[in-house]
Amino acid sequence: MMAENQALRLEAVGKEYRQGENHLVILDAAELTIAPGEMVALVAPSGAGKSTLLHIAGLLDRPDRGEVFVGGVACGTLGDEKRTAMRRQAIGFVYQFHHLLPEFSALENVMLPQMIAGLPRQDAAARAQELLDYMRIGARSAHRPAELSGGEQQRVAIARAVANSPHVLLADEPTGNLDPTTSGYVFDALTALVRQSGVAALIATHNHDLARRMDHAITLDAGKIVPFEMD
Ligand code: ADP
Repeated sequence: MMAENQALRLEAVGKEYRQGENHLVILDAAELTIAPGEMVALVAPSGAGKSTLLHIAGLLDRPDRGEVFVGGVACGTLGDEKRTAMRRQAIGFVYQFHHLLPEFSALENVMLPQMIAGLPRQDAAARAQELLDYMRIGARSAHRPAELSGGEQQRVAIARAVANSPHVLLADEPTGNLDPTTSGYVFDALTALVRQSGVAALIATHNHDLARRMDHAITLDAGKIVPFEMD
């Protein structure tokens, strides 16, 4: 049973890398819980282990120790096939660069993950249009990525990430390549979507203004996940 307030939970997670003679401890008994509809900022200097944490939370990588629960399901012991299915169903990713498919329209980009999940084309199209409307780019849905601005492309990428109603949304500098005004606008749309959909969001950012607008900010310190103290 999923505890209602735990869309994502990392329990005593450990991860180390071996670099030649050295043992690099990235995560050491790290703990994190994110509730549905909650936004958590991950603020840490480059090399601290942000990607490692996002990959473990996103079931792209396995921890050496501990457990990752997504929507209440323990994912550590799942085989590769089940993990992949879980990742597709339950986790959405947004990257700094949108990785939209250039030969498809905005609408089709948001439809594709739904069709891969088995939804009929018409249903996928209806949901995609609804999400693009919600992100206020519904009028641009027939355009290909190259015909959209950076901020519009990123809003399509966010719509795509939540298309299959995931439990967890993971984002790595989702507004990192946008100017401050556009970044604020995209962040507002992202916030509205997180609140409305009840997805649990973990968002890596160097931008303290954005971090301040989330529910919590965390950082990594000697392998532990600790609160990030904003200046
Ligand atoms: P960040 O995303 O915060 O920049 P990473 O999670 O990518 O940090 O990496 C944290 C540390 O772990 C870095 O010192 C990096 O060199 C090291 N590291 C990352 N992946 C590997 C790997 N596959 N093998 C060895 N070391 C790694």
